Amino acid sequence: MKCAVYPGSFDPVTLGHIDIIKRAAVMYDKLIVAVLINKGKKSLFSIEERVLMLKEALKDIDNVVVDSFDGLLVDYAKKQNASIIVRGLRMVTDFEYELQIAQTNRKISDDTVDTIFLVTDLQYAYLSSSTVKEVAVFGGDITKFVPDFVAKATYEKYKNQDE
Ligand code: ADP
Repeated sequence: MKCAVYPGSFDPVTLGHIDIIKRAAVMYDKLIVAVLINKGKKSLFSIEERVLMLKEALKDIDNVVVDSFDGLLVDYAKKQNASIIVRGLRMVTDFEYELQIAQTNRKISDDTVDTIFLVTDLQYAYLSSSTVKEVAVFGGDITKFVPDFVAKATYEKYKNQDE
């Protein structure tokens, strides 16, 4: 059984992430979407909220499971019997960063974990969780970037922060 891990912050999940997940899911028997627990990085949504939103967004894709992890990604991948890491590429700047991480992960896993890159669909090339938050904080329309229920939850977060 070929299993892959798609790791990320998903703070929050966007249509760009979902596109990558759908495309990767048909390539592997099982795809684990894994939210990285990064205590050093300030996030808008908690890990639990991000996992729940991903589960809701991906509930119709049978071979996708959502999980969270901390520590080294390659250790997590090995524990899950996954030999592939999936990452999305938007622009050249993504590539420079991702190349370094992919090579490091291959080395520290003794060449047992490889990274596969899927290039973004052009319509999502500019899209990131950060820009979604930057638009939402000022009440801008984010419904073209994230599922409707994620948009609602994001507006709600900022509303509660203001109160
Ligand atoms: P991270 O903090 O690990 O970069 P993100 O949640 O921002 O976490 O992204 C997770 C993965 O999804 C990364 O590989 C990123 O390049 C990819 N990704 C993010 N947005 C898009 C998009 N619009 N199109 C394609 N891939 C994307």
